[in-house]
Amino acid sequence: MLECPEEESPVAQQLAQLSALDRVMAIAEFELDGSLSRANDNFLALLGFTREEAVGRHHSAFCTAAFAASAEYRKFWPQLRDGKARTGLAERLRSDGSSCWLEATYTPVLDAQGKVRQILKIATDITARLQREQAQKEHLQRLSLVADASGTAVVISDSDSKIVYVNNGFTRMFDWQLDEVRGRAPIALLAPQINEDFVDKYRDALRTGESVEREEIVVSKEGRRYWVKVISNPVGAENGDDWNYTVTTLTDITRAKMHEVLQHRVLEAMVRESPLSEVLELICHEVERISPEITSSILGVSEQGTLQPLVGPSLPADYSRQLDGVPIGPASGSCGTAAWRNETVRVDDIATDPLWAEHKHRILPLGFVACWSTPIRNSQGRVVGTFAFYFNSPRVQAAELFHQLMVDACVHLCALALEREHTRQRIRQLAFYDGLTGLPNRSLLQAKADQAIATATRSKEKLAVLFIDLDRFKQVNDSLGHPAGDELLRQIAGKLRQDLRASDIAGRLSGDEFVVVLPQSDVVQTTDMVERLLELLGAPVTVAGVALAASASVGIAMFPDDGRDMETLLHRADMAMYQAKSSGRGCFSFFSSEMNQLAQERLALETALRQAIQTKQLHLHYQPQVDMETGKLYGVEALARWTHAELGEISPVRFIPLAEECGLIADLGHWALREACRQLSAWRAQGLAVPAVSVNLSPTSFHNLDLPRMIADTLQINSLTSQDLTLELTESILLDTNPSTMKTIAEVHANGIRLAMDDFGTGYSSLSYLRRLPVNELKLDRSFVADLGNDEAARALSAAILGIGKSLHLTVVAEGVETAEQNLLLREQGYPVAQGYLFSRPLNPQDFESWLKNAAVGEAAVV
Ligand code: C2E
Ligand code: CA
Ligand code: CA
Repeated sequence: MLECPEEESPVAQQLAQLSALDRVMAIAEFELDGSLSRANDNFLALLGFTREEAVGRHHSAFCTAAFAASAEYRKFWPQLRDGKARTGLAERLRSDGSSCWLEATYTPVLDAQGKVRQILKIATDITARLQREQAQKEHLQRLSLVADASGTAVVISDSDSKIVYVNNGFTRMFDWQLDEVRGRAPIALLAPQINEDFVDKYRDALRTGESVEREEIVVSKEGRRYWVKVISNPVGAENGDDWNYTVTTLTDITRAKMHEVLQHRVLEAMVRESPLSEVLELICHEVERISPEITSSILGVSEQGTLQPLVGPSLPADYSRQLDGVPIGPASGSCGTAAWRNETVRVDDIATDPLWAEHKHRILPLGFVACWSTPIRNSQGRVVGTFAFYFNSPRVQAAELFHQLMVDACVHLCALALEREHTRQRIRQLAFYDGLTGLPNRSLLQAKADQAIATATRSKEKLAVLFIDLDRFKQVNDSLGHPAGDELLRQIAGKLRQDLRASDIAGRLSGDEFVVVLPQSDVVQTTDMVERLLELLGAPVTVAGVALAASASVGIAMFPDDGRDMETLLHRADMAMYQAKSSGRGCFSFFSSEMNQLAQERLALETALRQAIQTKQLHLHYQPQVDMETGKLYGVEALARWTHAELGEISPVRFIPLAEECGLIADLGHWALREACRQLSAWRAQGLAVPAVSVNLSPTSFHNLDLPRMIADTLQINSLTSQDLTLELTESILLDTNPSTMKTIAEVHANGIRLAMDDFGTGYSSLSYLRRLPVNELKLDRSFVADLGNDEAARALSAAILGIGKSLHLTVVAEGVETAEQNLLLREQGYPVAQGYLFSRPLNPQDFESWLKNAAVGEAAVV
């Protein structure tokens, strides 16, 4: 409140109404002569005077010297006294000599008669605001200075979004001078495609004081295009003042953005393993989105130099089809020429350009007038495709750089996509095709066959699976070498391919095994086909300069009768193939249920045998060998027996070969050795005179270099010597190629263990091996003994074998002696040892003990 102690003046009354003002404004009252009569606290505080100093002071003493001395000031008081109010900015001096800025209103106060009595001054301090404004102005100036230097375009617009300033960078980039654009809206000027909605949102954001950042494609006055980063900053809005400018910078990011947008989406598609066409189509779509004036297309270039349309999503499909197979050449449209020259070809007027002379009739009706094409090269630099832009209106020259940058980014990506596809195909080839013959391998064969079987199931058709195995392929490999073997396989594969229908599937399983699947083929058709195939495969081929008559055995399984899935069909065709093989070369055989039953039984038996060996269900029987001269026991042969819980006695003639095939024979042999030695030792302990035991071993047992040590240990554990044991071998040992075999045999022999050649006379035609193998004993095969009675030749052979044995100092044992007659003949021939039912069947240990104690030995021998 004003100091007004004496009376309630009219001025004071007016002031009372203005008491609200009193709190925020500086208020003073001047006499008509200009001297201050009253002032409020705000006024005193603003100018730094005490009330005593201020009251009575003349108004001019508050003004700057310059103003007080000015002509304007001379009119100042007279005008007020005349009743004219005055408002304006005023600079005033404080008591300390500093100046401040006021926004002031001088109002003449009238008395009751209407005469001017006093002057009332109401003022606000605006010094701080003016300083801020000044700072902003300087800031903007500095900002545009920096911007000019940096080449960035800067636009300053007012709160109505009208341009008030653009810098040199803007003029350089967009070809517009400040005079041309002042007062225009920047968005409408540079990016007319942007819609109103966006503009509104954009303004709202700025109004709240936020800066706005975005990326946009903009066009210059001349039609040049840029991809720019736009940053708009509202200036001044943060203080709540009305004053609001927007400073916008536009930075050219075309190059980076082109790569980023295209690369990001395209690489993402590649990572997703999208197919080639999808990736390329994406490139075209992106290009057309960025530059709607462009229609793009991508063609492949074959190794033979012809075009193949890959994608052109906005071109009529019919047009693309017409390009298929068009040879590239020196005047073959934009694409064919670009591929031919291995450089970019820009045709701006298709109608007149000689490159298009022969092709324009196809494109002009579609409304395209210009076409650019750029070759796509793979990493070796070979042109594998072309990337083309078609334009349906004359090209804007100024947009060239923009288009070029787009081409650069795209061609790179196209090359990547094409190369990736190439690699994929290569991997597919490696993963799914047999490297030697180029036929599908097992995996692909399986997949294709599954498909064919699914189709056959749906359409209720028959299908045949052929398992083809070359005859005597090993011999070709062994005699002519592996390269020749490979060559033969290639030729066979070629023949297969040549004879098949398109729907047939051929593949190579491994080695010399091929598989053919014949969809829609019944037994009759399949037989025809296989007979033809065998004839074709049987025709001589020349390999490594040698004419070969190759042949194959074929097993056939039929869908659905023999199986409903490829695995079963293949397995059964394989079984049928073995059947075919057993009937000789170049035969074929259909799978039969008997075949299957046999196989099933075998499988069950194999499992049972495995168990039998593990659970010691096997046992040994012993057959005596008798010294012909003395009638005494010469030794015993241990023979394996298997009593199956359900199947009963199973003959070793069945289970020994089975054990050979399923890899159990070595275990079985070791078991027999240990068991026989244990038994012999037990008999000795009982005081029974058993001179020696013979154990049958298969060649596989001799693969184990540890066998001699294992035998020695077994003998030692049982307190036996090497003289107590004989190992029986068959002539098949001579066919064994394992390098350990001969070594093991020699070592066993060196340890003093006797070796007997079993079934002598049946197998090997040459006897020369007898000099190489350290054999002590020959066992005349029982087939000779059986024929002795009525066959002169058999008698001659048995005599000859005895002769050979004697000359080599070998003991010859006659096997299978069943009759007294045979026994007599053998004795007459001079055989030293005999074995057979005449003396005893193979017996279990208890029975053998009884037999021995009954002293039947001597009697039987001398019968
Ligand atoms: P092998 O080694 O030639 O054994 C002699 C076979 O002739 C035995 O058949 C025996 O029972 C039989 N035999 C003996 N005397 C007569 C006779 O007077 N008349 C006739 N017809 N046969 C007679 P088995 O026991 O059925 O054994 C068959 C084959 O199984 C054996 O022939 C042998 O090659 C093999 N084998 C048996 N046990 C084993 C073994 O533990 N290991 C190996 N690797 N093979 C064994
Ligand atoms: Ca034997
Ligand atoms: Ca034998």
